Amino acid sequence: MRNLRQELLQRQQQGLYRRRKILQGPQGREIILDGRRLLNFCSNDYLGLAAHPEVQQALIRGARQYGTGSGSAHLVNGHSQAHHQLEEALAEFCGQPRALLFSTGYMANLGIAQALMSQSTIPNAATIRGCLIEDKLNHASLLDAAHISNARLLRFLHRDYDSLLKRLARCDSATEEILVCSDTVFSMDGDEADISALQSCCRKQGAWLMLDDAHGFGVLGEQGRGSLSHQHISSHDNIIYMATLGKALGTAGAFVVGSEELIEFLIQSARSYVYTTAMPAAIAMATLASLRLLQTESERQQALLKNIRYFRQLADQAGLQLMPSETAIQPILVGDAERALNISQQLLEDGLHVAAIRPPTVPANTARLRITLRADHRQQDIDQLVSQLCDRVIAIE
Ligand code: PMP
Repeated sequence: MRNLRQELLQRQQQGLYRRRKILQGPQGREIILDGRRLLNFCSNDYLGLAAHPEVQQALIRGARQYGTGSGSAHLVNGHSQAHHQLEEALAEFCGQPRALLFSTGYMANLGIAQALMSQSTIPNAATIRGCLIEDKLNHASLLDAAHISNARLLRFLHRDYDSLLKRLARCDSATEEILVCSDTVFSMDGDEADISALQSCCRKQGAWLMLDDAHGFGVLGEQGRGSLSHQHISSHDNIIYMATLGKALGTAGAFVVGSEELIEFLIQSARSYVYTTAMPAAIAMATLASLRLLQTESERQQALLKNIRYFRQLADQAGLQLMPSETAIQPILVGDAERALNISQQLLEDGLHVAAIRPPTVPANTARLRITLRADHRQQDIDQLVSQLCDRVIAIE
């Protein structure tokens, strides 16, 4: 049996031990964490919808109408009218024939890859195995998807599509089902994949392209339609698009959109869809309310964009090293894990919550402060953040 105590101790010594803080109230511009009021610079609630009164009211209405738990899997009798309506609304919003809900984004990624990479059930089908090709900095759930699907895993250099072409050249579409996966907005870096470049690489080699738009959906593109709209991608032929609902939309769960056949295929074969309890119907009702807010009120996206520009300009003037990100995720690279943790703790003492992200979430020696901006941050919040970052980050350099 492995020595758990020693392993935990080793993590502590390496500055890699993770501790949970207790949140006492909703996500917001300010939060109460471990009994302290703090400015919040690390949630993914980019638009402030996680505690929006209309979304909360919809959740309450949903709980009254459907109860709290959905009681069973979608394929048994847990698929409510609310789930169905949300799927139809998401498909329409994304301009795709069909949508399918998953209970979490993690499960969606596992389920999509496992289903597509599974052995064909058609007798004598030419394809004998799956090959998954991933950007090196993809989210952990996409990497885990490769393991669970038992596919051959190849990884290409971050946003380097020549490197992708070289990996693709090592695959044979006649005998392999090829799935290229990429975050659209990289969760720990904030930079964006070039979807059109990815798409043309995939087309050349007859590969599927799966995009995880967890951090783009709701914030980027027309009315928050996500990265495809943001990057003006009009042809979706080989794209499988997934996004999560627990970030900008402020609720929980995830969805995938695509063709009629893709969605029906996932319903039949994605194990993380088939063998799990449906998300509560009340969550679907709340998400419908968030989606309505996205479609009717664009001021949150605009406010977020303004905050991103303001932060980058101020931080740049102050001499902070920014990463090439135009999104709400604005990391400051620190390198050493323990140092990142120390800075994060000092910022906490100053009244700011900024998460230190350490390996294995990010590669070795690239520990960072992952700052996330919100639509409801005020200019003085960002002034305070930059000023204290200067004290804490530059002072130690
Ligand atoms: N993909 C990405 C890019 C993510 O950042 C996350 C969540 N951090 C997920 C998938 C997983 O989504 P969920 O939290 O809904 O499981």
